[in-house]
Parts: sequence; C-alpha cells; structure tokens
Amino acid sequence: MEFSSRARQKHARLAGDRREQYPHSLQFYLEPPTESISLVEFESFAIDRLKLLKVVENLGVSSVRGTDVYKTKLECELRKLKFPYRALAEDDYEARRKDHISHFILRLAYCQSEDLRRWFLQQEMDLFRYRFNELTENLMQKFLEHVNLPFEAIGEDLKTELANELCASTPGFSMSKVKEQMFYKVGLADAVDLFRARRVFIKDGFAYVPFKEIDVIVLNNYRTKLSKALALTARSLPSIQSDERLQPLLSHLSHSYVGPDYSVQKNTGKISLEQIDALSVKSFPLCMRQLHRALRDSHHLRHGGRMQYGLFLKGIGLTLEQALEFWKKEFIRGKVDADKFDKGYAYSIRHNYGKEGKRTDYTPYSCMKIIMSNPPSQGDYHGCPFRHNDPELLKQKLQSYKIPPSGITQILELVKGMHFQLACQKYFELTHDVDDIGFSLNHPNQYFTESQKLLSGGRELKKEFSNSGNFQQKNNSQESINSSSTPTSSNATVDTELEGLEAYFTED
Ligand code: SF4
Repeated sequence: MEFSSRARQKHARLAGDRREQYPHSLQFYLEPPTESISLVEFESFAIDRLKLLKVVENLGVSSVRGTDVYKTKLECELRKLKFPYRALAEDDYEARRKDHISHFILRLAYCQSEDLRRWFLQQEMDLFRYRFNELTENLMQKFLEHVNLPFEAIGEDLKTELANELCASTPGFSMSKVKEQMFYKVGLADAVDLFRARRVFIKDGFAYVPFKEIDVIVLNNYRTKLSKALALTARSLPSIQSDERLQPLLSHLSHSYVGPDYSVQKNTGKISLEQIDALSVKSFPLCMRQLHRALRDSHHLRHGGRMQYGLFLKGIGLTLEQALEFWKKEFIRGKVDADKFDKGYAYSIRHNYGKEGKRTDYTPYSCMKIIMSNPPSQGDYHGCPFRHNDPELLKQKLQSYKIPPSGITQILELVKGMHFQLACQKYFELTHDVDDIGFSLNHPNQYFTESQKLLSGGRELKKEFSNSGNFQQKNNSQESINSSSTPTSSNATVDTELEGLEAYFTED
C-alpha cells in the first residue's frame, strides 16, 4: 500500500476502479492492497473498522452470537459504517474495497503486541462468522472455491451407504435430515474442533461434515491464516516503524478511542472540591476511585497517577484554580511543603491546562490509552484496575465496595477474557443498579457523565458551585484539539508532546 498526504480532498480516491479484485463480498484478506491511498482515507477507513470491531466486541458479550438481536445490530452497524452487509448486494465495490483496506491497516496497528493480536483476531473472527453465515448456500459454495477450500460434497450413493453412521455421529441429525443435507468429505486436520467435540463422523482419515457445520472448518482455516499473517506482519514492524508518516498513526490507532475526547469542559466550574469525595464513590469509574482513595490516604500520587487523575478531574469540570487548590491541599498534608508544591507540581498542573510550555490543552485519557500504555509499577495507582490489578486484589476491592458475589464472578470472568471495558460496564451496572448500561464504555469521563445523568434522572449536573472567576477558558496558542478523539494526526502530535512532557515531569 502506498500513502499520499498530498491529497487534500476528503476521501480522495487515488486509484481507479479495481472491481475485479473483489469477486465476493466476503474475504480471507490473503493479498494486501497495492493501490495508493491518501492519508485521509487511510485514517478514516481505519477508524471506521475500529468502530465496527468495538461493536462486535460489545455484542459478543451483551448478546448471544447468531441470535436475531445480534444479527440485526451488527447489520445495522455494517450499513451505517458502509461495510459490506449483505452478500447478495452485487454492486458494493466501494464497501468491499473499504473492507479490504481497513482490515490491513488494523492488521498493521494490531500486530504490535500479543494482547493486541489476540483482541484483533477475536473480533475479526466473530465478524467473519457472522458474515459467512449470512451467505446463501450457493454463495458459500462459491466462496469456498474462491478461497481454495473446495470441500467435496459426497454423492448420494455414499451418503446412503453411510447414512446410519452419519445419523449416529452427528448430534441433532435424524435420518430424514441426513437425507436432505449435503455432507462434505474433509481432511481430519481441517475438522479437529468438530472431531474433539465428537460432532462428526470419521472414516479413513476423513471427517464427514454436514453443511451446517462447515462454518467451523472455514473459521478454523481463517483463524490459522490470520494468526500467521499477524505474526508475519509483526516481524516486518521495524520497516513500518521507520515510516514517520505511519508510525504515529498506527500506534495511536491501537490505543485509540473512537468517541468524544472530553476536552470541551461542559461542566467547568460546576463541581465544588467538597463534592469530590462523594462523587468518587458514586460516579467515578474504578480507576479514578482508586486514584482518589490513594491520594487521600497517602497525600501524594506519583507522576502517572497525577496525569491520569488530574486530566480526568479537568474533564469533569475542575477549573485550573480548583485543581491547584485541590492538589496543594492534599500534598501539603503529606511530605511536600507549600513552596515545593508551587515550584514543582503547580507548574505541571498549569501545563495540563495549557497554561505553560507549548500551551497544549491536554485531553483526559481514554480507556484504551490507560489500558494499553504505561502500566503501573510498585507504588503506582494509575492504570485500569480491571487490566492491571491482580485478580485476587481486584476481587477484594470489589468486595470492599459491596459488589455482590455473583457480580464479582461476572466481572472476573470478563477480566479473564480480557474484556476490561466490559468488566467496567458490569461494575457500572452493579453500582448503579441498572440491568443494561445502555452505552458502550470507552472513556472514564464518559463513565462519569453517564453516571451523573442516571443519578440526576437524565438532567445535566446541577451547578452547585458557581464562581464566574473560576470558569476556565480555553486559551491555547495552538489549534484546539479535535473534538473527536479519533486518532487524527493532531492527536498523534499531542501524544508525542505528552510523552515529552511525561519525560520532563518525572518528579515523584
Ligand atoms: Fe477506568 Fe476505563 Fe478501566 Fe473503567 S475500563 S476502570 S473507565 S480505564
């Protein structure tokens, strides 16, 4: 794939029509795209696929795969994001092209670590399963031939000869069903899962797979191919990382979050410092509740904690003056005197609010950023408790917060499956006594906003503390950050600057 930043036009197309490349709506993504695309298109395709995979992840936990609800929601998302959604649609070249290119972009972004590879593989598999099962029998057959899986359907004579065995070895099959279904003769290596689950008849090194189970075989094949491809892509990372246009974009994508960035402080000045203790219990996500408790207990937070918590507080509406007062009051109760605070820590707080240095108005961290970068070490309290805490410690914490045992079990199951944000959603449901959170959680500040909405019956946060002098105006010499926190190049720059800032203010 070649990239061009010259194209200013949104979604500019740099290549001609390559319709013949996509004879099917479904793909195994065997060949990378070879056309030139603009960086604008590169970015927008990647973000849309990321949104789609997030929906796939959410649906995989909130609904049963293959049910009508699951299918309807997924189809709706595919339509919305303009990905191929119905195999029968003949003229969906643009959608197929987007599907192809976006898959490869995320493959680049998500090959970078074991965790990322696993997550990507899981969501792509679920997406593929849904799409494959939506194909008609005829299209399935065509697709199998297209991807060189020409499993041979056994003839009527052989089927009649094996009818008893097929009926006995294929769960849920009666004789009449055996007669009406096609069976495929598949090499044992391709049917290991069915064989292990004793769901298939085996003879002379071949499995006789009914048509309705062929998706298991195809999915296995796809999984093997995709995980090999991810490992190979990871090996070629050094050459990709040397491309200065792509690297920030790709690493940002894998940490990226696709909702609002909470840099626009709607509630600025509406929260009083006295409210924070109560809010931390009622409306803070676990990561921020943990940081707040640690700050109150030890009157100090190390650098990672101050950044994560400080920007969150800014996002929920603390003004710069309030932030300075809040941190100072707490720190001087510990080992830091007022003078040291003013000289050292106050500068970094003003920096976060865009009042020092490059005057960048930093945005609160998204869940992905917290989960994927800068893991906490000994003595740190930042990070995501669902991702970074030892499960036993997490369990104790949840018990101490009076989460019922069944809820704790559900949360720990989600954590085990590496669905950290979904575990957090479950925590929200349990602490707010709702059955369905009703949104897809991606950001600690989103958690706070949704909690407040719920607790106030859908109303905006009440203004309990008003002081016109406390209203913080954005006053950047730089362009303000894009209100969508999608990984735009400006955000990538901000991130780079943030890294620089972190290195500069490493004072503990
Ligand atoms: Fe915080 Fe997000 Fe982790 Fe929840 S999932 S604890 S909001 S980082």
